[in-house]
Amino acid sequence: MDLGIADDDLATCVACGLCLPHCPTYRVTGEEALSPRGRVAAMRQVQWDGAAADPSFVRSLETCVQCRGCETACPSGVPFGRLIEPARTTLAEGAAGGPVSPPPRAFRLAVRTLRWHRVLLAGSSALAVAQRLRLVPRRLAARLGLPARLPVRRPRLRASGADVWLFTGCVMDAWQRDVHADVQRVVEAAGAGVALPGGEAACCGALAAHAGLGSEARRRAEATMRALPGDAPILVDAAGCGAQLKDYDHLLGTAEAAAFAARVRDVHEWLAEHLAALPAPAPGAERPRVAVQDPCHLRHVQRAHAAVRTVLAPYADVVELDDEGLCCGAGGAYAAVQPELAGAIRDRKLAAIRRSGAPAVASANPGCALHLAAAGVEAVHPCQVVARALTTPAGTPPGRRRPPPAG
Ligand code: SF4
Ligand code: SF4
Repeated sequence: MDLGIADDDLATCVACGLCLPHCPTYRVTGEEALSPRGRVAAMRQVQWDGAAADPSFVRSLETCVQCRGCETACPSGVPFGRLIEPARTTLAEGAAGGPVSPPPRAFRLAVRTLRWHRVLLAGSSALAVAQRLRLVPRRLAARLGLPARLPVRRPRLRASGADVWLFTGCVMDAWQRDVHADVQRVVEAAGAGVALPGGEAACCGALAAHAGLGSEARRRAEATMRALPGDAPILVDAAGCGAQLKDYDHLLGTAEAAAFAARVRDVHEWLAEHLAALPAPAPGAERPRVAVQDPCHLRHVQRAHAAVRTVLAPYADVVELDDEGLCCGAGGAYAAVQPELAGAIRDRKLAAIRRSGAPAVASANPGCALHLAAAGVEAVHPCQVVARALTTPAGTPPGRRRPPPAG
């Protein structure tokens, strides 16, 4: 079966096994089939040797968190994302022979609903009311990764200029718009006016891409590009969305997509370059102690995790975890579709957080923050730490300054 993987990419692995300790599913199961090396071998057998895409093959691929920790660890430069994504798409959408393992209908419907932002907001508010009335079963809430208290209402975001776009996304905008509000305040404090996209940019398509729904992911990419025109930088405060937006070049393969992807910056990358323009901590502001959790899509895909530390350093005492950036198990919808493995992987992260002794964790990805918060961790976005430090105990917002000249 042709899995849609370039043979040159599939040939890169030399089976050295150096990636195994960096793979969360191998760490919690010890199974070779659930390691990067085992998955590459299985993909070769199916694509090259005519082996059947049987249930054990499907399990091997569907249990991958797509954290790409193996890419960072691999000395041979195996582009694991370029292997697993087309293979998952072939399983989910099929080639000539039809899909082998399509995602459940409810999941496909949920992913498609993300494109209708008003429906998502209304549904989320209704769920919030049901949550207040204790009508949401605890198991369902845990399965969906719901915050302990979904917002019924959300702060209104207002555009303040056109220096940069702030990508607001789908689920994060419904569940954590307060984070967007704090990010906007911090970006404005660095002197930039912030433009906000309309509803067409409601979803970047990352969840669809990870589930193998490639055609839906391409439709979301095209809509998002239409909603963010011009040449202003596009700032993203969710690492998974930022990685997806930066990948539009590869996803769509057009010059327009390449130009769009080149404008995308994780918000911490942009803030690190404009740090001199940010005000000092407000008088009397507390200096918190926070551990940094590196979302995989920031550390292994965007390779921009150092910027989080640069931005936090003037405002907080940063504590490093001792697990070398191992995945937390959130993985987009992974915690919902693979709850046992996601929980086992998270347990390792929780142990690292406990060893750090930090009372709070800063995470630049909402999925990771919610996954950790569901286990009792005080999880905040790094920009929330900065926003709080810029505010005096009496609540006076920081004054605005102009950014330094480019270059
Ligand atoms: S993916 Fe890379 S690190 Fe892992 S076994 Fe293959 S060559 Fe070695
Ligand atoms: S992407 Fe992550 S879970 Fe998947 S094989 Fe690589 S290290 Fe393991």
